[in-house]
Amino acid sequence: MNGWVDFRAVKQAVSLEAVLRHYQVPGLRRRRDQLAGRCPIHRGQRDDSFRVSLSKNAFHCFACQASGNVLDFVAAMEKCSLREAALRLQRWFMALPPPALPKVGKEELVRKKEGFNPPLRFGLRGVDPTHPYLAQRGIDRATAVEFGVGFYAGPGLLHGRIVIPIRNRGGRIVAYAGRALDGTQPKYKVPAGFQKALELFNLHRAAGPGSETVVLVEGYFDCMRVHQAGFPWVVALMGSSLSLAQEKVLLQQFERVILLLDGDAAGRAASQTIATRLSGKCFVVVASVPDGAQPDQMSSSAICGLLEIPK
Ligand SMILES: [Zn+2]
Repeated sequence: MNGWVDFRAVKQAVSLEAVLRHYQVPGLRRRRDQLAGRCPIHRGQRDDSFRVSLSKNAFHCFACQASGNVLDFVAAMEKCSLREAALRLQRWFMALPPPALPKVGKEELVRKKEGFNPPLRFGLRGVDPTHPYLAQRGIDRATAVEFGVGFYAGPGLLHGRIVIPIRNRGGRIVAYAGRALDGTQPKYKVPAGFQKALELFNLHRAAGPGSETVVLVEGYFDCMRVHQAGFPWVVALMGSSLSLAQEKVLLQQFERVILLLDGDAAGRAASQTIATRLSGKCFVVVASVPDGAQPDQMSSSAICGLLEIPK
């Protein structure tokens, strides 16, 4: 195995939140950008000694005085060196080989040669998860808060839109998508330079331990609705085509893929194409979405019925 590891890249690419999920640390309570709970390192009795700042991507335990970043956390959990911790994080969250470059013009090639979306160095402030649009789309408050979606009244590209953070496999935000509330075009805005084809929306949650099956949907709202219906192992294409990079991740991470695309002509055609591409490489099931229906407009029990999940 290649022993080379870039500490800085690992720290930047992997969120402490994703690492805590990886270890299935129970009972952490969230307040704004802070998590608090029982310390998983010294396993003490106090249920508030362990604190995490999500914005700083750092932790501290008031009882055992352990503190630091993702590398320090894994080193403490595994009782290993920082180097070994970085290698593990790289293996768990960053084991994605660089995707094959599509055939594009020269200018495009220059922009795309990095092969990954760098994490943002900022987070949007004042995102309102109580905006009525979300309720209209059937997204409840808890789901909105968990996904960090809401109305953004601040300045810039996404002003006056519902913003949806897009995270990489390690849980770091790499872009925000902004959805128009009225008929304004484009319906969705993403920042220039963001390469949608390199990400699967919600992968950082779906790729947790014990998830052999994944549900594949088209859009952000489909994804949130399936999550809300009680199935957290769901990812969205952010469109209706599967890129080579997305296919690679699916095959690497899951054994069984349930296609839950829209019940319109485009969705059916995309389902067919994707099922053909994946068949023989993993176990593929096409869920029978009724004609004209799409997952984000279906009730939780209808979604569970299609996915054959007992509810
Ligand atoms: Zn502790």
